[in-house]
Amino acid sequence: MVLGRWVVVGLFCGMAALGGARIEAQRLPGGVRPEHYALTITPDLGKARFEGTEKIDVVLDAPTSAITLNAAEIEFGDVKAYVWPAGLIADFKPDKGAQDKPPVWDEPTQFYKDSQIATVTLDSAKEQATLTFARPLPAGRVTLEIAYKGILNDKLRGFYLSKTKAHNYGVTQFESTDARRAFPCFDESALKATFDVTLVVDAGDTVISNTKVLRDEPGPEPGKHTILFARTPEMSTYLVAWLVGDFVCSEGKSDGVPIRVCATPDKLALTEFALDAAKWDLHYYDKYFGIKYPMAKLDLIAIPDFEAGAMENFGCITFRETELLVDAKNGTLPARKEVAETVAHEMAHQWFGDLVTPQWWDNLWLNEGFATWMESKAAAKWRPKWDYEQDVAMERNGILDEDAAGTTRPIRQRAETPAEINELFDDIAYGKAGAVIAMVENWVGEEQFRKGVQAYLSAHLYGNATAEDFWGAQTRVSGLPVDQVMRSFVEQPGVPEVSFGARQGVTVVVEQQRFIERGAESKTGAQGEQWTIPVCVKGDGCELLTPQATAMKDAAKAPLFYANANDKGYYRAEYTKDEFAAIVANAETGLAPAERIGLLGDRWALMRAGQGTVGEFLDLALAVKQDNDPGVMESALGRVGLIGSRIANDDDRARLDAVVRREFGPVYAALGGPRKHEPDDHAELRESLFEALGNARDPAVMAEAERLTQQLFSGQKPADPMIVDAAVALAAAKGDAAMYDRLLRVVHDAKDPDFREAALRALTWFEAPELVKRTLEYAVSDEVRSQDSWGLIGLLLGRRETQEQAWTFVRQHWGEIEMRSTENSGARIVQAAGAFCTVEKRDEVASFFAAHPVESAERTLAKSLDRIDECAQLRAAQEPELQRWLEAHGGS
Ligand SMILES: [Zn+2]
Repeated sequence: MVLGRWVVVGLFCGMAALGGARIEAQRLPGGVRPEHYALTITPDLGKARFEGTEKIDVVLDAPTSAITLNAAEIEFGDVKAYVWPAGLIADFKPDKGAQDKPPVWDEPTQFYKDSQIATVTLDSAKEQATLTFARPLPAGRVTLEIAYKGILNDKLRGFYLSKTKAHNYGVTQFESTDARRAFPCFDESALKATFDVTLVVDAGDTVISNTKVLRDEPGPEPGKHTILFARTPEMSTYLVAWLVGDFVCSEGKSDGVPIRVCATPDKLALTEFALDAAKWDLHYYDKYFGIKYPMAKLDLIAIPDFEAGAMENFGCITFRETELLVDAKNGTLPARKEVAETVAHEMAHQWFGDLVTPQWWDNLWLNEGFATWMESKAAAKWRPKWDYEQDVAMERNGILDEDAAGTTRPIRQRAETPAEINELFDDIAYGKAGAVIAMVENWVGEEQFRKGVQAYLSAHLYGNATAEDFWGAQTRVSGLPVDQVMRSFVEQPGVPEVSFGARQGVTVVVEQQRFIERGAESKTGAQGEQWTIPVCVKGDGCELLTPQATAMKDAAKAPLFYANANDKGYYRAEYTKDEFAAIVANAETGLAPAERIGLLGDRWALMRAGQGTVGEFLDLALAVKQDNDPGVMESALGRVGLIGSRIANDDDRARLDAVVRREFGPVYAALGGPRKHEPDDHAELRESLFEALGNARDPAVMAEAERLTQQLFSGQKPADPMIVDAAVALAAAKGDAAMYDRLLRVVHDAKDPDFREAALRALTWFEAPELVKRTLEYAVSDEVRSQDSWGLIGLLLGRRETQEQAWTFVRQHWGEIEMRSTENSGARIVQAAGAFCTVEKRDEVASFFAAHPVESAERTLAKSLDRIDECAQLRAAQEPELQRWLEAHGGS
């Protein structure tokens, strides 16, 4: 899955520990192995409900009179069990990759020697149903036949309803534990089975599912048709999907596999870009994994209402519209990059996750870390000029910052209940795990690592595996202690700090310790964590730093000593004063852009940990002001902006703005306006500077923002699409009600989902209190999809200018917000509330959410409170430093 990307995790974020996890085992009792499901689903999209019948073939390990499976919001009808003759067990081993074969169990009742009716007992807290039989069922194969009814909910999970003005859609989202809302099942990832899916739908609707359509026949009643899909290979329940509606698709082919990209009929024109990406990715992965794409077809479908970013259902990948649909010609570069990455992420899961699946959710990180690492690797191979390396470096630095918080968690974490499992989908499972995988690949070498991946996958085809299986394979193939490295990063929380000390010839003294942000030391329960770290020196090789090591013996051969080559290492580096000065002096000529991003990241982090001053960071930011890489510029200016909004008081902020205008204004002016056929990174650089100067109230940039916004409203095509979003945001900050109305019309009329989302976000930039109020009321109205509602509130909570008003609104309207909230949206609001910066606000947030607890947000709340504490402490420590620096730099 890819998470929704509305609230971009800020540089001040912290993570939370497991505090008081509920030990409430909700796993199925075992002893029952499902082999095959035959499902027939009849939805009524008008009445928002459905009927189902299913037959599940299971094997009982021992005689039993009770079988427990998962079910939630399901109303059971008749339930029967049929006992198979003993001899048939050996004969009916399902074929693991048996897609496209017709179902063989159409009329199995003739084989059954015995049948009986079950009594059903529901345990809604555990989301389980127990079927009890008067006479014990013998060991061996049994078919359960279940008739049931369910609801098409509006919570964006299970089998749910998605609507446009023109049509109703019935769609599914099962990860992690919501297949049980669509059909009673053994809903655990290790309990793989094959599936025959049949849907009975209106004549005007189509259905897309994991496999190809095998039969499509009119009936059983007039105005309906019945669609039977080919048998799936063995797979986990959370990867099953079906989508009902009037989707239309563009079609292509890659390595002989038919690929479709589908959307609601009005958005067909936006599917071509993703189709090109998917075709390229499929061929790339066929070669990378050395295993052919395992399904007979691939569909990628954009859904109007979708909670996450995307979901890797086997052969039937679903997306939020903005993550799949983009104008191939006129879409902005960030929008195209985003789609390319998301498509690459979900397609990587088809092998890594779907074909081979984690045994249990504690290893979710292996799935998501791998796909996160692979998404930019594949996208960068497809579009080498898009500077993905710098994006990855920026993301890694953001995660390192979060992971330095007192309340962080280890990558691998126990999770038993649906709420605990759900909370695992965080930046540690995605970003940190991805960064650790990238570090290992950089160390063992691209080709060796690929062989390790192949060895791991081919040993577990259509099965399940654990992290030990993965690093075991990597260790065997490479002959390097990958297991030691990965175990130290996966099982211990936090970030290593490596201090590089005095040099004697080519030997460098080293020391490692856990890197913890200021004031958090007491919260971590740190236990002297030590890591096994591959340290790669710029212009030199890598050396494995074990916990016992006190020196790197052969490290300082290159003229410039920079100890994180390519910025791939997951650690913070600290140098002696002289070494650091030499690195800064040579940064523009001696370091790659990703390394300069890492350098800025390290300096920023050291300041946050009390090992440096805000002035030292600002000096470094000014030292790279002529940098022509947009990632480096963003890494510098983004944090300067944070200093203004989080550390500075109003007077200091005005003085800092003056410095930004003075230092960066000429850089922006020298760039000039947009030119035809200019490189993409040139436009990105201009955008970064434009935004920072606008935020620093540069009069020329403000006037330009106003002009571009008026141009956009009058329907002119923007000459520089990259900066339109920033221009509208800047203009909105000072905008009036007339402008607000205008923008709202853009939101309502926009056909392009990216454009619509950008306009929607821009509503949150208005600062006039009566307009902030309108946005808040709009966010909880029926005019905003629940998938977007929390994003609007979150953005308002995240900004200094609007957060107080948004917070008051949240507390007064919590009932409405909760009613509209989906599985994760409550947690996102808890997360956004972490943007405050005073102890008083911390207490307010703590007491409010203590009185109004949010599901799956225990760790998120601890993390938010931690973030507020850290900000308050940082402000207290660095405000005088900032004032000193401003005095010295003529900020007046
Ligand atoms: Zn994923």
